[in-house]
Amino acid sequence: MKTITIAIDGFSSTGKSTLAKQLAQHLGYVYVDTGAMYRAITFFAMQNGYISNDFFDKETLINALPSIKLHFEFSVELGFAEMFLNNTNVEKEIRTLEVSNFVSKVAEVSEVRSKLVEQQKEMGKNKAIVMDGRDIGTVVFPDAELKIFMTASAETRAQRRFDELEAKGDEVTYEEVLENVQKRDYIDTHREDSPLVMANDAIEIDNSYLNKEEQFKVVLELVEEVLL
Ligand code: C5P
Repeated sequence: MKTITIAIDGFSSTGKSTLAKQLAQHLGYVYVDTGAMYRAITFFAMQNGYISNDFFDKETLINALPSIKLHFEFSVELGFAEMFLNNTNVEKEIRTLEVSNFVSKVAEVSEVRSKLVEQQKEMGKNKAIVMDGRDIGTVVFPDAELKIFMTASAETRAQRRFDELEAKGDEVTYEEVLENVQKRDYIDTHREDSPLVMANDAIEIDNSYLNKEEQFKVVLELVEEVLL
């Protein structure tokens, strides 16, 4: 059976990881959440005092990069791979609004990007992978057989993210989450290195009015066309 690479890119909180997990599970592929990797480096920078409001010591972070080891471990219980930073599970710590507020600044740093892109290419060298992020179809796997680009209105995305954070018990307001989504959209699309853009050969899916099942059905048909 033919195996392919599926690249899923798009704006923050468009449900990329939900779709990627569904596809990976259905196809028996590996799922890689590259946002988790940028978040883990951000968490490392926060823990070490390299980044805070109005302060970012990029040089020290760049010098520390060789000492940062990232890996994923599949959790049978959760049904997806959790992020480990220097052998510590940081899956919960990287999902806070605080990390979300700093991550796009860290993701602008070219040295951070090249370290992570190299690791991502290595993870996908045998195909049979679904990877989500911002630059997967443009930089990490420009030859991916299927590229999906996901969009939805900022308000829809903020509401979804707010519901998720609230369900976890995080004390955040909808306005804070909307502001974060808009700021990240701006930085991610305007950065010099690998900005978020739709690849020429990507298929755009606006899921503002699609539920998870409807969206999965649409994308599965695309996968089946490629696998034929
Ligand atoms: O996907 P998620 O929202 O967790 O990604 C967090 C941030 O990491 C994004 O807003 C973006 O700044 C950065 N990122 C990136 N390139 C990727 C994945 C994520 O720049 N491939």
